[in-house]
Amino acid sequence: MSSIERLATRTAEIGGGLLIRRALPNPTRRMVGAWCFLDHAGPLEVASGGGLRVGPHPHIGLQTFTWMIEGAVVHRDSLGNEQLITPGQVNLMTAGSGIAHSEDSAPEPPGAPRPARLHAAQLWIALPDTHRQRPPAFRNYPHLPLLELEGFSVRVLAGSAAGRTSPVEVYSPLMAADLTAAVPATLSMPLTRSFEHAALVLSGAALVAGEHLAPGTLLYLGTGRERLEISCAAPLRLLLIGGEPFAEDILLWWNFVARRPEEIEAATAAWNAGERFGIVEGSPSPRLVAPSVAGLRLRAP
Ligand code: MN
Repeated sequence: MSSIERLATRTAEIGGGLLIRRALPNPTRRMVGAWCFLDHAGPLEVASGGGLRVGPHPHIGLQTFTWMIEGAVVHRDSLGNEQLITPGQVNLMTAGSGIAHSEDSAPEPPGAPRPARLHAAQLWIALPDTHRQRPPAFRNYPHLPLLELEGFSVRVLAGSAAGRTSPVEVYSPLMAADLTAAVPATLSMPLTRSFEHAALVLSGAALVAGEHLAPGTLLYLGTGRERLEISCAAPLRLLLIGGEPFAEDILLWWNFVARRPEEIEAATAAWNAGERFGIVEGSPSPRLVAPSVAGLRLRAP
């Protein structure tokens, strides 16, 4: 149903002591389509020698989806990939049966100052049961469709929006788009009626489906909408996500998405024993330790 829920983000700390806004999972709304995690980092100043410092850590059962708006981050993984992600790009890592990676703000290039700011969103996509054991993979997408629509620039990050389709490889019907307006504008954004959607302002302020929206609130929009009215009175950047309501119950714990507690317990034990996930070479940040799984079974679906 096309209900509206205003969901407060919560502050969380990620590697390097960065405070970010976590919009998903939310106590009353765990997922939007297959999107099961949404962190909004920045915009913030990145002090010299600091910034994002997320040392090697494992994932299973999901895809990590990083949308870079300002700054530069180096991804390294246990498949041997080392990839700089810069503004306008998406990094997509398919964890499948298991992978480890690190994410660190890029070092100062010779003769140039370090990017002074960091602004990014990182989302996770739960893999459906038919794909969650697939082999791990990583890809950087430097070119994503961009269209101009009623005064907005719409970057199609995943799935399709307004007739354009992103090349990002996903395994559930879903979408994500980054919408920006430089001046006051009003947009009637076409949506897929069967999808549930949610909107998050990344900078500025907007009126979305009649609701005033600013950073710190995720606006859940339900299913059944063919259009979404978005307007702004000043420069705006907004993230729109959506997807078919996810039909499977997932178990999300630390960096793992699974179905049964035994899977999480096995992944945790393997990571802390240095098994199964391989080695991430070259990260300047320390390897993360998986937290105790005590209490996990109380959360099992
Ligand atoms: Mn990660």
